[in-house]
Amino acid sequence: ALLGGSEVKPRIMLMGLRRSGKSSIQKVVFHKMSPNETLFLESTNKVVKEDIANSSFVQFHIWDFPGQIDFFDPAFDSDTIFGGCGALIFVIDAQDDYMEALERLHTTVTRAYKVNPRINFDVFIHKVDGLQEDYKMETQRDIHQRANDDLQDSSFDHVHLSFHLTSIYDHSIFEAFSKVVQKLIPQLPTLENLLNIFISNSLIEKAFLFDVVSKIYIATDSSPVDMQSYELCCDMIDVVIDVSCIYGLTSGDDISPAFDHHSQATIRLNNGTVLHLREVNRFLALVCILRDDAMEKQGMIDFNFAMFRAGIQKVFDVRKRRSAAVFRTDSG
Ligand code: GDP
Repeated sequence: ALLGGSEVKPRIMLMGLRRSGKSSIQKVVFHKMSPNETLFLESTNKVVKEDIANSSFVQFHIWDFPGQIDFFDPAFDSDTIFGGCGALIFVIDAQDDYMEALERLHTTVTRAYKVNPRINFDVFIHKVDGLQEDYKMETQRDIHQRANDDLQDSSFDHVHLSFHLTSIYDHSIFEAFSKVVQKLIPQLPTLENLLNIFISNSLIEKAFLFDVVSKIYIATDSSPVDMQSYELCCDMIDVVIDVSCIYGLTSGDDISPAFDHHSQATIRLNNGTVLHLREVNRFLALVCILRDDAMEKQGMIDFNFAMFRAGIQKVFDVRKRRSAAVFRTDSG
């Protein structure tokens, strides 16, 4: 399982042509690099195996390959590489001519599928910040069509590709990564269920369960996600961590003084919206959006949150038997 302690962690691989943006994505999502700094990144020229297991709840490896992967090079052990892989992200530079990238995508997908038919394939149509709105859609449609036609022509039409429009200059890259990661979490339906119960009993409008380090949301309730709410919650995390880094006290061997068991914050916006953040465990935070009159029932929210937190703990602790958490509602 992805989230178990010592269990085998499935890998996410990031592949694509040279200069498609792989290193930038990795730096921006996992190392808080600002998008402008990526302009000065050196091009990837070796296989980089990155393990971000220690800082992030979402434990996976990013394999950053050189732009041109030679599948026929004996050093390229596709069994090992694709065998334990949960998701393969293929990055295509949408600002460039993408014909060669599509060819590579095809070779990669068919090759990987033969080794491991359970891999999820996600295509990031990347750098779309440079494209006009209608051209964005047209590019996505064209890439989607061509990639699937190629698969059909070689009788791989049962292979499913997911497409995401991404850019490191806005939150789309985090949103896309969230989708990729969520597909690898077997407990996702249970998490969503817990979130649904929690928000409906606490008069909360929207709630995200965040991996604090990467700002990937590993689950949300089943109401639709709008980008603005997600961005608001991401910004909330940044603010809390920044303030905490500046003013927080470090206690002894604390690894991350900026986020601990006591982390909690409420931000009241002047349009009547409240953002509320609570620590769930050392990696995860719950960030909620609610109206400020709902905040009057803070006691109920606190109680329900405690139930929610206990529920989450049980979900990830497979050894313990599951029991239903009881949430309190306004009436009872
Ligand atoms: P890699 O060789 O695939 O690792 O590519 P890099 O990460 O080195 O990126 C190549 C160039 O693309 C860099 O100059 C980045 O600043 C730029 N880049 C990466 N992502 C984006 C994006 O979303 N939008 C734009 N406009 N440029 C990007």
